[in-house]
Amino acid sequence: MEHGYELLKACTNFFADFIIFSLLALYLCRLHLSPYRFKKDPVVKKSLKVFVKTYGCQMNERDSEMILSQLQCTGYELTDNEKIADVVILNTCSVREQAEIKALGKSGYLARKKRTNPNFKIGIVGCMAENLGEKLFKLNGAIDFVVGPKRLHELANVIEGNGPNLCIGDPEVRCPTHGFGRKLGKNQCSAFLSIMQGCNMRCSYCIVPKTRGIEQYRPMQDIVEEAKFLAENGIREITLLGQIVNNYGGRLMPMVDGKTPFVQLLEHLNALPWIERIRYMSPHPKNFSDDLILAHKNLPKLCPSVHLPIQSGSDRILAAMKRPYTREKILEIVEKLRSAVPDVGISTDIIVGYPGETEEDFEETVSLFDAVKFNMAFIFKYSPRAGTKSADLIDNVGDGEKERRNQILLQRVQETSSYYHRKFLGKTVEVLIEGHAKRGEDTMFGWTSNHCKVLVKASENNIGRIVPIRIDGFATTILSGTLVDSY
Ligand code: SF4
Repeated sequence: MEHGYELLKACTNFFADFIIFSLLALYLCRLHLSPYRFKKDPVVKKSLKVFVKTYGCQMNERDSEMILSQLQCTGYELTDNEKIADVVILNTCSVREQAEIKALGKSGYLARKKRTNPNFKIGIVGCMAENLGEKLFKLNGAIDFVVGPKRLHELANVIEGNGPNLCIGDPEVRCPTHGFGRKLGKNQCSAFLSIMQGCNMRCSYCIVPKTRGIEQYRPMQDIVEEAKFLAENGIREITLLGQIVNNYGGRLMPMVDGKTPFVQLLEHLNALPWIERIRYMSPHPKNFSDDLILAHKNLPKLCPSVHLPIQSGSDRILAAMKRPYTREKILEIVEKLRSAVPDVGISTDIIVGYPGETEEDFEETVSLFDAVKFNMAFIFKYSPRAGTKSADLIDNVGDGEKERRNQILLQRVQETSSYYHRKFLGKTVEVLIEGHAKRGEDTMFGWTSNHCKVLVKASENNIGRIVPIRIDGFATTILSGTLVDSY
């Protein structure tokens, strides 16, 4: 009996040890195998501190994240204090001239630091690097390296070299996968996920196809793996990024059951545990297919919020801009979206004062605004960009007139935005709390699924959680509310 008991005890211990050992091995294996694992702090071989300043769009923000991960992996120390940095990298934007002037001004300011620290390095990366290339060394002789967006994976090597070092154009092997470890912030619960690079369109005013090249899609499985990694590390909301995000897969990936590759990807991501919200940015009206509208209805994690850049409400101007859709198409998309998801938030981008835009053309845009009632709009006054087709046209709408048109649309959108926000008064909405708001220690901010920003008094414990908030105040672009009692 006693023998039998000892044997049973020994067996039990053996199996318990075996299970613990297996779980440990599995965990270590997973850590090692994930391509997105947090890299352990490497030995700081250079003791150089790097600071990255980002200009422009979300694609640039994601690129900057990738730059930081890459440099950390190769032994640099990261700092968020520009003053103590040994290397300052400006990740630039070329969409508007003003953005380039700003970045160039900043590089001029930084040049002064070279007088006291000759080893200090200045780098220009991103779209402006690709657009201006070698010219940048002439504009500011203190710049050490210039790296285009298609060559960012070579950045660590470029920094090592003795400047000036130029690295633009197509690399021998393109690296669209952002294959460096991800670096997430403390308490971060929302993250960008790049699914493609480049753009095949040729909108007449846009420099992006020149700076970022043609479309390159990441493999679907690779994106899903990265999303899993993000989910396992506290991310609850992902925003898929691409220049034309709904053209993901193009003609290179097959339709499956009548669904585009983009919708197939959304379905895979919707099935992942821990991911609670999925957004995407920015779609093109041309590719806004019915299966995507249906996905908004059927996929519970796909947020009821769409940023649909229309640029103009005049078919004549759209044709001149080489935007292959009409105002009718916009109205049709909006109608279908609203009947599939009634509370969907719709925002847009508009350019006013495009060459040749008449008062009648502009009125068409105003009437489209009135018909759609966007809850947010980013309105830009046209300015020519060297290297684009429209730069050859006469910029014949004066600055004053552009400003007048800008103000008219701004007022329209303020009215529709206020109307949209007012509808939430007295309602309880689910808000993903992201962090501290600027106003006061105990005030947090977060977002509803239809992308309204909400302020609320709450404790830090709520960061990263989706909580119910009763809305009791609103302004044009923001809501405020109170945590419901149970929280
Ligand atoms: S779709 Fe047009 S505006 Fe958008 S990135 Fe491509 S070329 Fe530029």
